Amino acid sequence: MAVSNILESLNEAQRDAVAGPMGSALVLAGAGSGKTRVLTHRIAWLIQTEGVSPYSILAVTFTNKAAAEMRGRIESLLAMPIRGMWVGTFHSIAHRLLRMHWQEAGLQQNFQILDADDQLRLVKRVMNILNLDEKKWPARQAVWFINSQKDEGLRPKNIEDNSDLYIKTHLQVYRAYEEACERGGMVDFAELLLRAHELWLNNSSLLQHYKDRFSTLLVDEFQDTNTIQYAWLRVLAGDRDNITVVGDDDQSIYGWRGAKIENIQRFTNDFPNSRTIRLEQNYRSTGNILKAANGLITQNVGRLGKQLWTDGNDGDLIKLYAGYNEIDEARYIIECVKQWSRDGNRFCDSAVLYRSNAQSRVLEEALLRSRLPYRIYGGHRFFERAEIRNALAYMRLLEGRDADAAFERIVNTPTRGIGDRTVEEIRKLARSKNVSMWRAASDMARAGLPGRTRNAVANFLKLINLLEEETREADLPDLVEIVVEQSGLKAYYEKERGERGQARLENLAELVTAARTFDPDDEFVFDDDAFGEQSAEQVGGSEPVELSLLEQFLNHAALEAGEGQGDPNQDCVQLMTMHSAKGLEFPLVFLAGMEEGLFPHRMSLEEPGRLEEERRLCYVGVTRAMKQLYLTYAETRRMHGSDTYNRPSRFVSEIPVELIQEVRSQSLTVRPASRSIRVSSIGKDVEVEGTGLRLGQNVIHAKFGEGVVVNYEGEGKQARVQVNFVNEGSKWLMIAYAKLESVS
Ligand code: ATP
Ligand code: MG
Repeated sequence: MAVSNILESLNEAQRDAVAGPMGSALVLAGAGSGKTRVLTHRIAWLIQTEGVSPYSILAVTFTNKAAAEMRGRIESLLAMPIRGMWVGTFHSIAHRLLRMHWQEAGLQQNFQILDADDQLRLVKRVMNILNLDEKKWPARQAVWFINSQKDEGLRPKNIEDNSDLYIKTHLQVYRAYEEACERGGMVDFAELLLRAHELWLNNSSLLQHYKDRFSTLLVDEFQDTNTIQYAWLRVLAGDRDNITVVGDDDQSIYGWRGAKIENIQRFTNDFPNSRTIRLEQNYRSTGNILKAANGLITQNVGRLGKQLWTDGNDGDLIKLYAGYNEIDEARYIIECVKQWSRDGNRFCDSAVLYRSNAQSRVLEEALLRSRLPYRIYGGHRFFERAEIRNALAYMRLLEGRDADAAFERIVNTPTRGIGDRTVEEIRKLARSKNVSMWRAASDMARAGLPGRTRNAVANFLKLINLLEEETREADLPDLVEIVVEQSGLKAYYEKERGERGQARLENLAELVTAARTFDPDDEFVFDDDAFGEQSAEQVGGSEPVELSLLEQFLNHAALEAGEGQGDPNQDCVQLMTMHSAKGLEFPLVFLAGMEEGLFPHRMSLEEPGRLEEERRLCYVGVTRAMKQLYLTYAETRRMHGSDTYNRPSRFVSEIPVELIQEVRSQSLTVRPASRSIRVSSIGKDVEVEGTGLRLGQNVIHAKFGEGVVVNYEGEGKQARVQVNFVNEGSKWLMIAYAKLESVS
């Protein structure tokens, strides 16, 4: 490829950044202005015209996926494969270095990586040995302490052991944990970065080798680097002064995880000769989307300040939809996606973004029902999340004690002193006697275990039996709530500090909501009125009604979890949190759940700093959209287990009003203007056998509201009635579950 071609598709400022002289540079620019593109082209340019060897280039991206994309782009720009160049995330690069130099790093040759769950387990074990009471000293808090210290580059020996009991105790855990890792040859995520930094500090010749090798450093999404990452870069860059970083202070969204927006300032201090380049033309979004983003972000104070413009069309207005609840919101989004597809577009060009993971459940269920393929990017589907599976496992055990998988999952979750060895023994006994683990555990609780373990096992069995007693009379949502509370899961996750623990609690609360809105008949009728794809008559009658409601709920959960992600090549609607959407772009974007308390998240409302971070997150969300942007909210939302009535997000009103168009749903799901009941022409005195209901009778359903019985089939427990609801249209319901209230 000719030299000019690399610069051809760039504007002047971009060209300046790409083809500028060797030396350090900071590209500070808003969303969609081509920062990532500049990095890619800069690398291609250096290789092609400056004769820089790929071998001497190190590029840092934010995700592994972005790294793969960057490599691919460079290869296609140069029309040749490139070898020897290092592109990856900070973690993957650190990992690679430590594998190569395990000896210099003081590691065992085949050290193991601990993921977050492994780390938690190990910290727990350590705290056990230290005889720390988990109630007073939650392990999750200790993990948080350890990781935060590591992110700041601090080992136990660097931390002042003052008289503060909190610090004293956690330091003790940190020390013991460090020893355990050392002995077992284990390395957690934060340790990767810390070790990689120490690798530089403790091995001057090795450092010199890499300084000589990596003469060119480049970093994307620089605004989200933390202290230790920056320190590592700083040392590697040394006084060679040839590091290019690109970032946007307005998109710094990981402050809660230790990212330091101040690194931008630090960079210009540490590299005083660096050039600062600003890009102001946006190539991603329509004029209206861009104006919305600009309007929003100017509400933040203390910005480095930049304006984006585009010479493209204004495009459509931003659509604002008020769902009357979260189900209606989801339906509306799906309606739009279907229209998008009918208009000849691909599903994968549409993305639904949300603030909290828990929001995905309602969206997922609606997508499944309408049979639209979807993929959750950077996370698990709702019913696959660990905390949800844990709670479900308790319920499975309530339903039938022989559920071994459930038993294994929760016998020691939350921790109750039943170690892996004990579980193994239970498993063995069960196998040899050909009984369930529950039975085997019951036998062992009577005899055959040392006292302390025996008590722990007996207590677990007691807990399950007690739970069963307490939930016997409860309806499904109450049952779920009791299980979440009394299993200890809620308290267990309450101890996990930060966003992660919060997200797990939200998911558990969302499970209660799922139970509250669960209606086995929904499996058949949900689509009926909205999409008309499959009528109740076609599928009705095959449902085995002998199942309890709990069993049906568990089946529902299992099916949804088992559905699996669409395969990577399938054309899927993209679902993700706004955090995961950083750096990406989609022609059609929905920001769902634009409500005060949800977004901005209620945890951020008190602190101006965190509120600004929420606004930056919203800015990230808005600027993912290329052509069409929808903001949706629900007037009432079942969230965290109860109904909330939230005002629309302040972020909506911070977008200039002339850019926004309020829209209404085209489907039957909007509130009809008239509240008159459609009475069918069917004769009024036909009784639905053994139910006390008559055709033509007015009824009230807890969820769907008022309606009229217009048809029926089956009898007794199997009987189903068709009801015309005022607000919801026609639905087939099983009388045994629907709890219809007659009104005269
Ligand atoms: P973000 O802040 O969201 O990471 P960014 O600044 O990294 O955004 P890019 O992703 O590099 O922006 O570019 C945004 C879009 O604009 C991409 O589709 C890119 O290909 C396109 N683009 C950038 N510069 C140009 C240009 N000069 N001509 C045509 N298209 C461009
Ligand atoms: Mg980018």
